[in-house]
Amino acid sequence: MDRTSVTRKARDMAVRVARVTTALAIAQAIGPACGLAQTADAHDGGVDAVALIVEIADPASGRARVRVEIPTTVSADRSVLTFTFPDLRRGHASLDSIRASGSLTREGDTFELKAGSEPLTLDYIIDPTFYPPGQPERVSDARSRITAEMAVVRTTSLFPRFRRLDAPATVVFRLPEDWKVVAPWPERDGSVYEAGAGWGSTVEYVGLGPFAVETLRESGSTFRVGTSPGGDELDPAEVIAIVRTELEILGAGPSGGGDLWSAVVVPRSFMRGGAAGRSSVVQPPDPGVLAHEIFHWWSNGATIAEDAVWFREGFTEYYGVKSARAAAAWTEAEADACLADLNAEMRFLERDGAMSLVDAARAYRSDSRARRLVYAKGALLALHLDRSLTQRGRSLDLVMSRALVPGDRQFGTRDLITLFDRLFHELTGVLETYLLQAKPLPDLHLSDATGLSGCARYLP
Ligand SMILES: [Zn+2]
Repeated sequence: MDRTSVTRKARDMAVRVARVTTALAIAQAIGPACGLAQTADAHDGGVDAVALIVEIADPASGRARVRVEIPTTVSADRSVLTFTFPDLRRGHASLDSIRASGSLTREGDTFELKAGSEPLTLDYIIDPTFYPPGQPERVSDARSRITAEMAVVRTTSLFPRFRRLDAPATVVFRLPEDWKVVAPWPERDGSVYEAGAGWGSTVEYVGLGPFAVETLRESGSTFRVGTSPGGDELDPAEVIAIVRTELEILGAGPSGGGDLWSAVVVPRSFMRGGAAGRSSVVQPPDPGVLAHEIFHWWSNGATIAEDAVWFREGFTEYYGVKSARAAAAWTEAEADACLADLNAEMRFLERDGAMSLVDAARAYRSDSRARRLVYAKGALLALHLDRSLTQRGRSLDLVMSRALVPGDRQFGTRDLITLFDRLFHELTGVLETYLLQAKPLPDLHLSDATGLSGCARYLP
C-alpha cells in the first residue's frame, strides 16, 4: 500500500476545496463589505477551509488586522466555537480589538463564538510580539514582531487556536508594496497560501518584508528561502547552497512536516537569536547556526528519541559546521575556528573529570553545562568518527541518512549503536567508548580557541 499516494490524494482534495474558499476570501478582502451570507451560499458544496486574511497596512504600528472566515460547513455541527490566542498569555501579543459576526463572549483567555446557520467572521487587530520564555526582553530578543522595515510573525501569535477545528486554512496577505511572504505553505497566484489542517496549533515563523526570495525544488520537496536585503552577508543563493548540501548528505528531503520548508534570514539588529517552527526557521545571517537549524528539518524529535539528544543536537552541531563549509558559506578558517571553540569548551567543561555522552544527555534538560557538553562533545565525537571513516574511504554521512531519512521510526541510543555497528562494525567500539564511558576524546589536533566563532558558551 502506497501511503504517500493516499495522503497526496487527500491533500489534492483539500487544496481543491481550499481554492473555492480562497476565491471567497479574496473577494472579501478586496471587494467592498458585501453580504457574507450571500457569498458563502454560493459555495455550499463541500467548502471546508477557514480563510485567514492578514493585512499590514501600517507596519510601523507593529500591528496586523486579521479577518477569519469560517464557512458553515466547518461550523455546522457545532453550536459554539471556542478559541484562544495561544501567545496572548505566554508571550506579549496584545489584542487591540475584536469583533465577530455572531455573539462573542470572553472569559479570561478563552473566547466563545456562537455558531448558527450563517458563516462566521472574526475581525481583530493584534500586536503579535512574542518573547521566548526566560529570555531578556530587548526588542531584538522578540521572535515575532512587526516593524516598519519587515516582520516575522509566529503563527500562534497571530492566529486564534480553535478547539476541535481541523479544517485547513487559506491565508491571504495584504502587505505594503514590495513586501514578500516567506512561509512553509504552498503558494498560489503569488498571494494565497494553503496552510494545512494544523495551522491553528503548529508553530511556524513567517517572514514578511522586502526579502530576496529563492526557491529550490528537489527530491519532492520545496525549499523557500528569503533574506533581508542590504547590510547582511548572506544572500539567498548561499542559503540554498546549504540546503542543497544537506540534501546531498542525506540523500532525500525531510520526511515529516509536509513537503514545503522555509528559511528567513533577518539582520542581527532585528533578531539576536533564531527560532525554528515545524517546517520553518528564522535566523540572523550566521551560516553555522542556519545550517544547524536547517539540519533539524531531518534531525528532530520525530526521528531521534530524547535519550539520543547527543545525536540530535551534537551530531547536528557537527553537520551544521560541515554543511556551512561544504556549501562555501563558511571559509575553512571559519569552520576550524568553530570546531576549535567547541573543543576548548568541551575540555573546559570536563576539566574536573569527563562525562559520558549518555550521562550528559540524561542531564540535558536540568544542567546547562551538561547541555553544552551534549553539543560540544557530541559534535566532536561526530568529527572524530567522520575523520576515521574518511581515512577508510567511508563517511559518517551514511549513518545520518540511514537514521534520519526513512522517517517511519524514531531512533534511540541503542538503535543508533546497532545501525552504526551494521554499517561500520570496526568502529563501533570507538562510538560506544565515548557514549557509555566517562572518557575524554583524544587530541583532535584543532587550532587554539579564539572564542570569537560564537559556537561555544563556556570558555576558560
Ligand atoms: Zn539544535
